[in-house]
Amino acid sequence: MEVTSMNGWSTAGRTRPVRYSIETSCALPRYTPVGRFRVLRHEKTCINCGRCIKECIYDVHRRKPEDPRLMDEPLSHLCKNCFRCIQQCPTRSLSKILNPEYLRLGDEYWTPEIITSTWLQAETGRIPVFGAGYRGPFSGPGFDSMWTDMSEIVRPTRDGIHGREYIHTGIDLGRKPDHLEFDGAGNLAGLPARVVHLPIPVLFGAFPVDLYGTKVAEAVCLAARSLGTFFAFDPGNWPSLLNRYSSSGVPRIGDDLEKARASIQGAAMVEIPFSKDWGKKLEQIRKINPDALVSVALPFTPDADTAVEALAAGSADVIHLMADRHGRAPLLPGSPFLKDALQWIHLHLVEKRIRDEVTLLASGGIAAAEHVPKAIISGADGVVITYPLLIGLECLACRECSLPDTCPREIRHIDPDWGATRMINLMAAWQNQLLEVLGAMGLREVRRLRGETGRALYFDQLEREVFQEEFR
Ligand code: SF4
Ligand code: SF4
Repeated sequence: MEVTSMNGWSTAGRTRPVRYSIETSCALPRYTPVGRFRVLRHEKTCINCGRCIKECIYDVHRRKPEDPRLMDEPLSHLCKNCFRCIQQCPTRSLSKILNPEYLRLGDEYWTPEIITSTWLQAETGRIPVFGAGYRGPFSGPGFDSMWTDMSEIVRPTRDGIHGREYIHTGIDLGRKPDHLEFDGAGNLAGLPARVVHLPIPVLFGAFPVDLYGTKVAEAVCLAARSLGTFFAFDPGNWPSLLNRYSSSGVPRIGDDLEKARASIQGAAMVEIPFSKDWGKKLEQIRKINPDALVSVALPFTPDADTAVEALAAGSADVIHLMADRHGRAPLLPGSPFLKDALQWIHLHLVEKRIRDEVTLLASGGIAAAEHVPKAIISGADGVVITYPLLIGLECLACRECSLPDTCPREIRHIDPDWGATRMINLMAAWQNQLLEVLGAMGLREVRRLRGETGRALYFDQLEREVFQEEFR
């Protein structure tokens, strides 16, 4: 099997694979971040003693640069809610409230906590740490109803996940034949399967250029190229200035294949929507570019299992299953969550004994680092994300972007290098969290996690097993 990688490394001639790591650099926010708390200083009673500066280890308190005799406005977004400054202030001049601006962020799925944590990861590239502990619920809807089984955490690797032991977060896109055929002379019959290796199980979805502008699109291109992953784009609405990134791009082709011929010729992977004539389109794409992988995208519909079976048994290389932005499959009865819809498709292919032949990608509702391993446990090989990248650019998830010039964060006007750094930082933080999860599970590669539901605990199942007898 010929394996090529998107960022150019190869294992040929080496005894150990080169460790993939993502370089991060600080990308400061353009706007003051919105914190969960607002720290209030009562100016009339504050004696400017500076005690709070010493008490707060998160640097919320500081003096005014222009007059160091006076205390400045607290940097409330850095507050971790430990109450220390409030307790230690000699004149009881400090108090703290929940920030109403924070509570207005996002919605019930893209919660203020997810949004602000994404901002921090995009700025620093670090795993978020909550110094004052986690005080929220331990289960909820969607991905919060499954927990990863990290029981191997009692037996960590010899020298940590960044030490000598290698944990692989890469995936292979493409068809994997279940057997090889050789001719009478012992040579491989036919062409070797074409597989593209990505070092992280995350691909970038398409950003509509008319909505977010060319600078966001360029940031996506730069970040994808640097990470060695793919980004999707609409060739009918793509600035020619960005054609230089086409080797990392996945053109999403509509009905007019001829119009998209140039994009298809330059691509390592092409995506088409599922339709009755998908086989015909796939053949036409193969004629234009025999080396390109072809991905077929479809939502979870009631007959998605038979459609996916036909695609996997046919010659699609990749199947992209799409949930909505809240991770729901609204066309299925009861609008199940992505994890359940994915399991249904994955197990169907397992039953038909064709699961290993095709790559499954999932999109919709992937909002946080932990959702990546949870989607993979549910049966995906990798995930496609868009919204977390936008939030990494300080988006407020206000959904005003249908009117481009009303964006309160002026997303269209970012510096593409700054945007790319924020996306790379976010992916570095996500990859490190994936390494933590794999290390704590005792797994050495993310590919081993696919469909491993035995590596997860499901809240409803546990509740049934533990409490069923009690409430009988
Ligand atoms: S409550 Fe704690 S974290 Fe917040 S400002 Fe005071 S000392 Fe700092
Ligand atoms: S309009 Fe709102 S949702 Fe859209 S990009 Fe700007 S901040 Fe984000």
